[in-house]
Amino acid sequence: MHSTAPMDSELACGRLHLPVAARCNIQCKYCDRNYDCANQSRPGVASQLLTPSQALAYLDAVLAAKDGITAVGVAGPGDALAEADKTLETLRLVARAHPHLTRFISTNGLALAEHAQAIREAGISRVYVAVNAVDPAIAAQVYYFVRAGKRNLFGQEGATLLVDAQRRGIAACKALGLEVIAVCTVIPDINDAHVAHIAAWLAALEVDGLELNAFHPAQASPLGTRPPATKAIMLAAREAAKAHLPLMECCTHCRADAKGLLGEEQAEAILNKIRAMAAADSPWAMPDPQRPLVAVATSNGETVDTHLGHARQLLIYQNDHGLVTLKEHRQAPPKGGGEERWKALAHLLNDCKILIVASAGDTPQRVLGEHGLSVRVVPEDTDVAAAVLASFGIKNKKGKPSK
Ligand code: SF4
Repeated sequence: MHSTAPMDSELACGRLHLPVAARCNIQCKYCDRNYDCANQSRPGVASQLLTPSQALAYLDAVLAAKDGITAVGVAGPGDALAEADKTLETLRLVARAHPHLTRFISTNGLALAEHAQAIREAGISRVYVAVNAVDPAIAAQVYYFVRAGKRNLFGQEGATLLVDAQRRGIAACKALGLEVIAVCTVIPDINDAHVAHIAAWLAALEVDGLELNAFHPAQASPLGTRPPATKAIMLAAREAAKAHLPLMECCTHCRADAKGLLGEEQAEAILNKIRAMAAADSPWAMPDPQRPLVAVATSNGETVDTHLGHARQLLIYQNDHGLVTLKEHRQAPPKGGGEERWKALAHLLNDCKILIVASAGDTPQRVLGEHGLSVRVVPEDTDVAAAVLASFGIKNKKGKPSK
């Protein structure tokens, strides 16, 4: 979704998008889902999707490479609240690791009311809401469908649901003291003459500001053959809106991702690192010739019962042509030392592909992932034998690990 602060340009804005929310709960007629949410004004950008912990690592890497980042948010690549758990978890991690950064989300507003409280509790202070029409007859020309539970609602039925959800969501956020910025894409002959009405509707909800974006057709979308919004249309729209709300100047074609902030090459190096972590973190990671072993954090040898931070020793298993056996015990590095402890553990387990634990903090998962070790968190008291066999890709218990 779109998110832009007043007068900021992509390099001066100090803002970074974390791409953790893939899905969307509506279908805008100007959207080409081969790329990120069109409401972000980022033509042709397709993000590398990250998990919340990978997103934190990505943020850490960008902060190390570039000064001046002041705001971090989730703006897609779909809708931030269509997968609210991932968005909120990501921004909670950011709040813990970097409390000085402003946190924001951008959303179409369909799920805003139900998540408003959780948004505030996650320490998010600013919400961008894409509002392209408030008259359902006009909104039906902008949105193809709106998801309602397991059904898609088309035409004015869906549009009515969305406009009502946006009204309730904005009101809920304002009641909780959140800053709300509305974002409107001006589409010639659809909503350009409707902008004053939209601005008045937003002002009545005490929205803090409005940003107007010029429509640019995405070829693969239903509105792909429409002409773009001209400068004259945008000037008229701004004139119509400014009597009602403070207008925000947007940075056209915002690229508030790492590539936009750091330049293509540097950002690619960071993304390659994150991709390697993603591969190591994958639930499909399997032991290989370079890392043939599996480690388990267990206090009794029978069940996976240990939080990684409390593990004193690790059991190491090997697979000899389908016969899985206990190879040895290894003493875990002592408590304390912050990230150095996890780097030492990564070194201790540099011949293991998978570490099975009952629970683990985000920092050790990230550090171990960076060193190619996949941390597999399983339910507490999972049978060690079953977990180890599954990690070697063995489905039955014929090869029960021998002690
Ligand atoms: S909100 Fe609209 S533009 Fe954004 S991802 Fe969803 S369908 Fe595409």
